[in-house]
Amino acid sequence: MPSNALSNDPSPLNILSDVFGYSSFRGPQEDIVNHVVHGGDALVLMPTGGGKSLCYQIPAIARQQAGHGVTIVISPLIALMHDQVGALHEAGVSAAFLNSTQTQEESSALEKQLLRNELTLLYAAPERINTPRMKGLLGSLHERGLLSLFAIDEAHCVSQWGHDFRPEYRSLSLLHETFPDVPRVALTATADALTRQDMIERLKLEDAREFVSSFDRPNIRYTIVEKTDPTRQLLRFIETEHAGESGIVYCQSRKRVEEIADMLQDAGLKAMAYHAGLDASVRQQRQDRFLREDAMVMVATIAFGMGIDKPDVRFVAHLDMPKNIEGYYQETGRAGRDGLPANAWMAYGLQDVVNQRRMIDTSEVASEEFKQVMRGKLDALLTLAEDTRCRRVSLLSYFGEDSLPCGNCDNCLNPPAVWDATIAARKMLSCIYRVQQASGISFGAGHIMDILRGKVTDKVTQYAHDKLSTFGIGAELAETQWRGVLRQLIAKNMVRVDSEAFSTLQLLPDARAVLRGEVTVMLREQALGGSADRKRRSVKTSVKGMAEASLNAGAIERLGKLKAWRAEVAREHNLPAFVIFHDATLRALAEQDPQSLSDLEGISGMGAKKLQAYGSEVLRVCAAAG
Ligand code: ADP
Ligand code: ZN
Repeated sequence: MPSNALSNDPSPLNILSDVFGYSSFRGPQEDIVNHVVHGGDALVLMPTGGGKSLCYQIPAIARQQAGHGVTIVISPLIALMHDQVGALHEAGVSAAFLNSTQTQEESSALEKQLLRNELTLLYAAPERINTPRMKGLLGSLHERGLLSLFAIDEAHCVSQWGHDFRPEYRSLSLLHETFPDVPRVALTATADALTRQDMIERLKLEDAREFVSSFDRPNIRYTIVEKTDPTRQLLRFIETEHAGESGIVYCQSRKRVEEIADMLQDAGLKAMAYHAGLDASVRQQRQDRFLREDAMVMVATIAFGMGIDKPDVRFVAHLDMPKNIEGYYQETGRAGRDGLPANAWMAYGLQDVVNQRRMIDTSEVASEEFKQVMRGKLDALLTLAEDTRCRRVSLLSYFGEDSLPCGNCDNCLNPPAVWDATIAARKMLSCIYRVQQASGISFGAGHIMDILRGKVTDKVTQYAHDKLSTFGIGAELAETQWRGVLRQLIAKNMVRVDSEAFSTLQLLPDARAVLRGEVTVMLREQALGGSADRKRRSVKTSVKGMAEASLNAGAIERLGKLKAWRAEVAREHNLPAFVIFHDATLRALAEQDPQSLSDLEGISGMGAKKLQAYGSEVLRVCAAAG
């Protein structure tokens, strides 16, 4: 007898409302669920926060009820399996995970449960799937008709073109070879065409039905600012827009992560550092704190975040530029999973471009083909950063999706001024050209800008560059403006930073048309002396204001009491608070001021098991708030 808290109707819609407490499917969820329930293979491409988990959890429940046995979920997120399984238990679903610390007895108890069709979902890391013991177990389950479904989460990990390549994922093609009749659903939030194709081939999903969702995350506001004084900019961003809220700050290096975490702590914020250089136990502990505590800022390298489904992350800040748009989108996607307003903020500068380029060019493990692909991806991100169009339009078009200007990004809210930079561009390009011609070697950005601005430095004198015709021809622009021009020329593929030669500047073929005066170059106006910051601050709809609006005094009090109660329950169960109830559910409760159990029924996130377990407590807490 399966132990799910389910009434007798196993239809997907009923499972959705009964187990998870949601009234309707989102986007393509319903089609996916129906397809998978009936044994179809599926490839699900959905943005982070889109609701992928239900796409295999509901089929798992329905199929187990129908006697098909267990769904095996393959996920790289060992550190999160405890919470994922805990969340299912809270919803009344029988689930477990395999883990290397389990004793013989625990493992055999689990195996017995499986053979009795008592388990709906079993989570395992890819490397566990291939152990002889696991293979034997899967074989016996299959013989008994109790191997219902394989769900391959974070499926892009199989592809080296994705951003989280895991070699262990490669062996998952064996599943299909060994159990060709067991349906599979593969899920990912990465959707660039190359990764997708590779994923299909590697996992042998050629015959699977593809479900591609819109990648738009309308509640996320995208902002990309020019990096001037990054730590001060970050602090101001957090203090003005996100005081008392949780967020993630991404930095490129471990050292920088530590510095920024210290800086935020000094400023009185609850901040922690997270990177691969820390002990696994420290990482786990900090991740748990981030999930369990409010108003926590995690400063991290990209080692942090995959599978973090904390719904109330209100901002993701990039203090250094990510490697490509997929990474950027995945990382920013961790903000606002609860659908409430959230910010994706990035500070970016010339040095980022130089650094990222160097990392690609000097990689000793990557093939030339691979480097070429990575350079192309970096260029696409530069184009996004320098774009004057709606950020969302450019992001979505990168994923092959058409859309209209969103009204919720920096460029929509404060359309950037554009100036005719044809002459400036020509001056810079010809300066690079002349210097190279005169000296027989190339120089870096700083020196080129000194020549343009007519600065006599030791290096200028040493190479007699003050004798060049381009010396001092650009005195009318400040150095930050020249930096902006150069960044944009790099983004437009006219100049390249040669990392193998001390980050010197080289002209690319596209520069020719500008030098010949055949094209005009329109560039984004640079922030001068903080004017852009002033402008930005004048945007009235601050994200915080939007998230907090619309509760009356009584509701605010109830919300406070409910949150305190939730924190206690979460501690007792050793689970993050949002696993008990999402903020959105608590807000709905606080707003509605329920008087009886039946008042609780339609509330989003209140499934049957939770109603039974917590209903009367919730009523008591609301009543006590007066
Ligand atoms: P993903 O894995 O795609 O990043 P999740 O599966 O974690 O996203 O879902 C994101 C959030 O949306 C979760 O908090 C989940 O409970 C919620 N959610 C998913 N589907 C629905 C739905 N149909 N109605 C309401 N909330 C949903
Ligand atoms: Zn926009």
